[in-house]
Amino acid sequence: MTPHGDTGPDPATTGAEHPAEIPPGQPPEGAPGVAEQEAPNERPGPALAVFAHPDDAEIAAGGTLARWAKEGREVHLLVLTNGDRGSDDPAQDREELARIRLVETQVAADYMGLAGIRILPNHDGELQNDHAVRREVARRIREVRPTTVLTCDPTAWFFGNQYFNHADHRTAGAATLDGVFPGAGNPHFFEELVAEGLQPWSVREVWLAWTTEPNQYQDITGFMDAKIQALARHESQVRGGLLGFFEQWLPTEAEENGRKIGVAHAEAFRVLNLG
Ligand SMILES: [Zn+2]
Repeated sequence: MTPHGDTGPDPATTGAEHPAEIPPGQPPEGAPGVAEQEAPNERPGPALAVFAHPDDAEIAAGGTLARWAKEGREVHLLVLTNGDRGSDDPAQDREELARIRLVETQVAADYMGLAGIRILPNHDGELQNDHAVRREVARRIREVRPTTVLTCDPTAWFFGNQYFNHADHRTAGAATLDGVFPGAGNPHFFEELVAEGLQPWSVREVWLAWTTEPNQYQDITGFMDAKIQALARHESQVRGGLLGFFEQWLPTEAEENGRKIGVAHAEAFRVLNLG
């Protein structure tokens, strides 16, 4: 979780990887174009979550993914890096860490009821929005054929005055959006995938987590425990009191979001309806 290698046991004072370490800033009340509403949750069909690091999905959207799975949606997770810099221990073998994090991700996904995971072998901290990454996003989209793709907002740089977003998070959001369009739905993009039998697929909607411009709130009441327990499965990332921090901070964040729509707990998203 801490690819900068400078994070101590107190997440509030360190350069940690995730915006969840510091509460994201909210747009001003009544900001133009910002409509606060409960997510309609009307779209059936599979969903594909795409994030940069193995534990991002739980922190950013674990309640939503667990809820969708519980409601019967087929939910898949694609992780774009192997998380091999998520340790402050200089003696930690990075290849071993990547193997540990693969197992943790599978266990956490099982806890949330996800249908499947895939982790790409890209190194933590080196994610690029290049053709190869976009192709793997498009490949998974054409395989899963999701109605909904959920990723993080690539435009979110600053969360308040205490945190700026990890480059891998911004890049993951950008590569995923570019994989959705133009990409997965166009037969002239990634023609090599068509040759493999993976036909173009048009995604109907995109949900962007870790956003500073939320326009929908997903009720996750009843799924707060699943979010935290799934995160706890990333044992290599929640040592040194970090789990306790998340156990305090994530419900507080979810309660603040829940108040926007009058529920106990919610997660915030910028939702794009593509048709
Ligand atoms: Zn991350």
